[in-house]
Parts: sequence; C-alpha cells; structure tokens
Amino acid sequence: MGTPQAFHVHRLLPRGKVILERLFPGYIDDLPSVGGYPILKKTARMVKKWGVFQSFQPEKDVSCSRALLEQTIRQRVQILPGVRILEGQEVLGLRISTDNAAITGITLRPRGEIDQHATITAELVIDASGRTSKLTQWLQAFGYELPENEQVISSIGYSTRFYKASKQIIEDVGTIVVDEMQEEGKMGVGILPIENDRVWVTLFGIGGHFPSTDVHGFEQELANLHLVQAEIADALKQAQPLTTPRGYRVPICERHRYDRVERWPAGLLVMGDAFCHFDPIYGQGMTVAAVEAETLEGALLEQQRNPQPDFERRTLQRMQEAAITSAWWLSALNDLRGSGVEYKGEEGPQGVQLLHCYLDLYFKYALEHPVAPASALKTCQPTVAKLALMNGLLVPPKEVFNASTLTLLLEEETSTDDSRRLHELVDAYNLSPEAIMEQVLPAFMRITVAR
Ligand SMILES: Cc1cc2nc3c(=O)[nH]c(=O)nc-3n(C[C@H](O)[C@H](O)[C@H](O)COP(=O)(O)OP(=O)(O)OC[C@H]3O[C@@H](n4cnc5c(N)ncnc54)[C@H](O)[C@@H]3O)c2cc1C
Repeated sequence: MGTPQAFHVHRLLPRGKVILERLFPGYIDDLPSVGGYPILKKTARMVKKWGVFQSFQPEKDVSCSRALLEQTIRQRVQILPGVRILEGQEVLGLRISTDNAAITGITLRPRGEIDQHATITAELVIDASGRTSKLTQWLQAFGYELPENEQVISSIGYSTRFYKASKQIIEDVGTIVVDEMQEEGKMGVGILPIENDRVWVTLFGIGGHFPSTDVHGFEQELANLHLVQAEIADALKQAQPLTTPRGYRVPICERHRYDRVERWPAGLLVMGDAFCHFDPIYGQGMTVAAVEAETLEGALLEQQRNPQPDFERRTLQRMQEAAITSAWWLSALNDLRGSGVEYKGEEGPQGVQLLHCYLDLYFKYALEHPVAPASALKTCQPTVAKLALMNGLLVPPKEVFNASTLTLLLEEETSTDDSRRLHELVDAYNLSPEAIMEQVLPAFMRITVAR
C-alpha cells in the first residue's frame, strides 16, 4: 500500500530531528552521501500575514525527500539485532484471547494473495498503520466500547510538482513556506530544495480551497503567490518540471481517544497517524510519532524494571500527554482560521477569534522588535524564535500564549485594525488578562512551565 502522502512536501520539525539523532546517531551525516542537500547557513523564508521572516540555518542539517529520509532510517532499523522486516504483507486483523481480554497476535497474508493467510503470535502488537488504520472497527468487532473521537473537518487539498534546477537557482530560492493565508481562501505553498538538484513544490489549501492538479492551473496558482521577491518567482520559473502535479485530499483530521476507554485489551498499543492525524500543513505527524516512540521506550524500560498492571492504557495516556495534546490543539486552532472548517468533539479550542488575533499581533510584534535568539525564552516578549520553538514542538504553547504577553500586546499600540480588534475581543470578556487566558487556554497549558 505504501505511503501516498510521501509524494508531498514533508519536513521534519526540530524536535523530531533531536529524537532521530538520539535514536540513530549521525543519520544526518548519512544523508548527503545519498544526495541530500546540506542547508547549513542556507536561507529559509516564512511568509505570514504580517510579513516575511528570513533566517539562515544555524546548525548542520540536510534537506531531502521523505522517501530518502525513510530509506535512511529504515536501513538503520534493519540492522538492529532482533529486527526482522516482513515485506509485502497485509495485516487482516488482530487475534484475541478466548476471554476477550488480551491481543495475542495478528493475521496476515501476502498482498494480493486472497486465498492465503497466516498468523503471528505476539506479546505486544502495535498498530502503526497510519490514517487508514482499522483499529476502531477491529476493537468494536471484539465488543470493545470506544469513546467518540475528536475531529477537525478541515477539507485540505495538496498538489505537488517536482522540478530540476541548477545549483544557483536552488540556492536563490532556498526554503519557502507561505502560510496563514487560509482565512482569505488563498493557497499556501511549501518549497524545499531536496536531493539530486530537485526542488519540491507543494501548494495547499484548506476549507475546500483545493489547489489545481492540472499543469496550467498549478503554474498559475504558484505565480499568483507572494513568493517574497519577484526574483525568487523568476528563478523558480527557470526550473524544469519533472512531474505533472499530483493531488492529495485530507477531508478530516482525527484524534482517537483510545487512552480514555474503560476497558482496553492487554498486549495492544497504537501510535502515529493511527492514534492521531493532524493537518499536514504544520508538519507535525512524523515528529509526534517520534515523541511517541520515545515515550514507548521509557514505558517499556519502566515496565521491565517494575511490571505494573494496565501498562498499555497508561502508555497510551502518556503518549497523549507527551506528544498529541499540544500538537492537536495548535493544529486545530490554526485550522479554525479556514472558512468552513468545523470542530467536532468536546475538546475543541476555546476563544478562537481572540487567539487568532493574539497570534497575528504576536508575529507582527516579533517582526518589529527583533531580539537575539539567546534571550528568546527569558521574557514574555514575543519573538519569532519562540514561535518557531513552539511550532517545532520543542517548547510548550504556554511559552507563546500567556497572560503577560497578552498584557504586553494590549499595551503595545492601538492604531491598527488588528490591535483594535484584540481590544474589542478582550473587552467583551470583561475580565483580567490572567482570567481570560485561564478561560480560553486548555487545561494542559495551565501547568507552569519550568524555566
Ligand atoms: C499530504 C501530507 C503531507 C504531510 N507532510 C508532513 C510533514 O511535512 N511533516 C510531518 O512530520 N508529517 C507530515 N505528514 C504526516 C505524515 O505523513 C504522517 O504523520 C506519518 O507518515 C505517520 O506515520 P505512520 O507510521 O503513523 O503512518 P504512515 O507513514 O502512513 O505509515 C503507515 C504504513 O502502514 C501500512 N499499512 C496500512 N495498513 C496496513 C495493513 N493492513 N497491513 C500492512 N500494512 C499496512 C501502510 O502501507 C504504510 O506503509 C503529511 C501527511 C500528508 C497526508
């Protein structure tokens, strides 16, 4: 079945890189030898509603396609003692004990061989089968009751094209993300230099604004985007298309609450997109899966040292806390800017308009008052570095969203439409900034951040 989404721009967030480097030391050094594009000191640009933020990659890093990243990691996994990869197999279902209390293995068959099937017994089965996972149906068929999941009906569309370009064009264009145009129904774009002198270009839209998948429409939509400077758009026009555009749709993003079930079978875990899949635009999925892997590592070590009942459900809860909760909140909050986007479930973001306005003014303030990255975390002052750390899942959202920063933004100036709007929204609460943040921020953010 593969991973059809791998055709579309994938970037690994900073926290994911830290975890992969710990689990597979030196993997970044392997990438250039297989064609990966080193980006140390290369330019990255982020275009937001308030302007352009330009930065230079400060540390050793390599840009590459998801396929190359996956192949590199897979080679490292393959040589681990005790690892055996069965290729071309389709998992058909789970095996369960006669008392219905424990998963004891899986049934599978070689893909396409409908007359065959085999069984593998296991002490622990982990469903990592991605967003098309059938775990819900399998558990329900065994009589397990599952809580309602949370959903963002976001109607996201992607369209992607690969280009071949000279080294100079690749350097001039660099990495570009045009983001946060969704509320106006515009497209966004991610442009990444990758292996073998190629440039990866993905257009995206939300709320049913799907980018074109025909060549003319794609090029037209790309040309209509604000790509920082005319020279960049001109440079990109000289690149040679290697593929026709290919589309991908994400109708909903979904957070399962398997951690909340009253009864969960022993010997079963779930992780990655099968547990929660986000709006891909924010690039969280692989990093959340990496945090879950780290959480699992800790939980297994603890369980070996000090076996406890209910290991599986507690591990699922830990994965929610460590990886999913804040990423889901950030993804849902941003998606709700899109017209027509809807949240279904009990844990949707509160105070959405206020927090959107807050974020816009935060970014504006950060662009207008740049400070050295070293002092980024020391004050409540908005900085692009803090936003990047939060979006990179390296610091909790509380670093960006807090009452002190709200007060600062309110005091800053009142002359723009957005700042007037923030004052109006705050006034409507008739509460102090502390009480407003207490009301609109989810419970997980009220825990004090250790500095
Ligand atoms: C368009 C798009 C762009 C994205 N961009 C980014 C990004 O920039 N950064 C980022 O971090 N994330 C991104 N993501 C999310 C990312 O792709 C996922 O979060 C990530 O791949 C999840 O990994 P996973 O192992 O859980 O699932 P997957 O990578 O989807 O892997 C699941 C695997 O299970 C296999 N499988 C499924 N069912 C069965 C079965 N019954 N039997 C056997 N095998 C089975 C599938 O073939 C597949 O190989 C994007 C997603 C999309 C859709």
